[in-house]
Amino acid sequence: MPDSSVSIKDLSFELYISEAQIAARVQEMAAEMKKRYDGQQPIILGVLNGAFVFAADLVRATTFESVISFIKLSSYRGMKSSGQVASVIGLDIDIKGRHVIIVEDIIDTGNTMHSFVPELEALEPASIALASLLVKREALEHDIPIDYVGFEIPNRFVVGYGLDYDGLGRQLKGIYQLAK
Ligand code: 5GP
Ligand code: MG
Repeated sequence: MPDSSVSIKDLSFELYISEAQIAARVQEMAAEMKKRYDGQQPIILGVLNGAFVFAADLVRATTFESVISFIKLSSYRGMKSSGQVASVIGLDIDIKGRHVIIVEDIIDTGNTMHSFVPELEALEPASIALASLLVKREALEHDIPIDYVGFEIPNRFVVGYGLDYDGLGRQLKGIYQLAK
């Protein structure tokens, strides 16, 4: 059994979504994607760092061919977390005319995707879909269509399964929520 609570630095977290629950949901998401992408060879574009675990599991749950690539979005972190995307690093494949699935770990305010999706659209892909393991619906500040949602979660900080607190906790197999 995994620990039901963990401490990272100064904070305590409690198990919120188990490894088994995540695995079951990832299978369902892959099956849902198959309906649209079978035979299409989409580009699966994982957003580093957080989505590396989800992307790896999701790709292995799919039964259609895809091309996988990763990008990193660096945002200006000034006085306020504006979420404005400053630059896209590592988009080294031509997406023109291709179907693209952006794979995110979590969508919170939606600022990141709100600025990134138009940048991607400018490169003229055939289509863009967004898949996020987690969505904090209450925190969303933009009307962004999210095509594939793993879990809708409350507006509380989570770690694990690729998500970090100050660089730590990504190795946890489940998703842990900040303890009250
Ligand atoms: P957004 O631009 O949608 O507000 O946030 C996107 C990014 O904020 C995510 O990709 C993630 O890096 C970070 N983030 C938002 N909420 C959480 C959370 O609860 N836990 C962790 N570890 N990162 C989060
Ligand atoms: Mg992310």
